[in-house]
Amino acid sequence: MNVVEQDAVVARGIGKTFASRAGAVTALESIDLTVTAGEFVSLIGPSGCGKSTLLRLIGDLDQPSTGELSVFGRSARVAREAQDYGIAFQQAGLLPWRDVTGNVELPLELHGVGKRERAARAADLLALVGLADFAGHFPHQLSGGMQQRVAIARSLAERPRLLLMDEPFGALDEMTRERMQTELVRICKESSAAVVFVTHSIPEAVFLSQRVVVMSPRPGRITAVVPVQIADERTEGLREDASFFAAVTAVREALHGSGAIPAEPTTRGVELR
Ligand code: ADP
Ligand code: MG
Repeated sequence: MNVVEQDAVVARGIGKTFASRAGAVTALESIDLTVTAGEFVSLIGPSGCGKSTLLRLIGDLDQPSTGELSVFGRSARVAREAQDYGIAFQQAGLLPWRDVTGNVELPLELHGVGKRERAARAADLLALVGLADFAGHFPHQLSGGMQQRVAIARSLAERPRLLLMDEPFGALDEMTRERMQTELVRICKESSAAVVFVTHSIPEAVFLSQRVVVMSPRPGRITAVVPVQIADERTEGLREDASFFAAVTAVREALHGSGAIPAEPTTRGVELR
């Protein structure tokens, strides 16, 4: 056995081209990225720069056209089959006819985990996301933020070592969103999962991440990787700290091409959605 801890994600020279009636679309080109075990990395950039595509490739929901991708030292396919992943998207995607417990238990049920173990795991996860009192509620009885917490609990059900999240808080109001970010930081710490997190929000990326990966469109490329130099302990108060503002500025400058690592000219003046 290799005693060195495997990186969560290693992408080398990843490219992705989609064929369309209007011709080929290069969604990603020459993507090199390593995410270490337990690391929180955000992908940020204007619409169409390939963030979702990259996440889908890592999650084996689609295949790269070129390059090599490994997840904990194995192919994305094998990692998916080994249930290394938890996935959460912008829409909570809960089953309306199942209660909260039933939704969280679903992946366990699909993989043949016994009833008693499922119930225990669901109870633990609901406590973790602060929904212990809502176990018997149905999705329509919950707020958007609560539904999203159920989705996060579900994504953690199989103790994934890697969480893939595509704008999971995109549909939430600002207050709820900040609360969810604080929750997510705590949850990730407790589960020690690595996270690849897609967002349009610079403060969100900074608050959550150890590194922010800045991308530009046509073709989708990584133009900068910004290490987030703020306290490891991500408390609410940190949002008003000078170090936080400095980190937000560093990411913004990288996005607009005036950071330490020059971005493609195409990112200049590009508005975030
Ligand atoms: P982002 O998530 O950063 O907004 P996407 O990854 O969704 O960007 O898309 C990147 C580019 O790839 C866009 O130009 C988009 O139109 C194109 N694209 C994404 N998925 C497909 C697909 N299934 N077929 C054709 N083009 C696609
Ligand atoms: Mg997207």
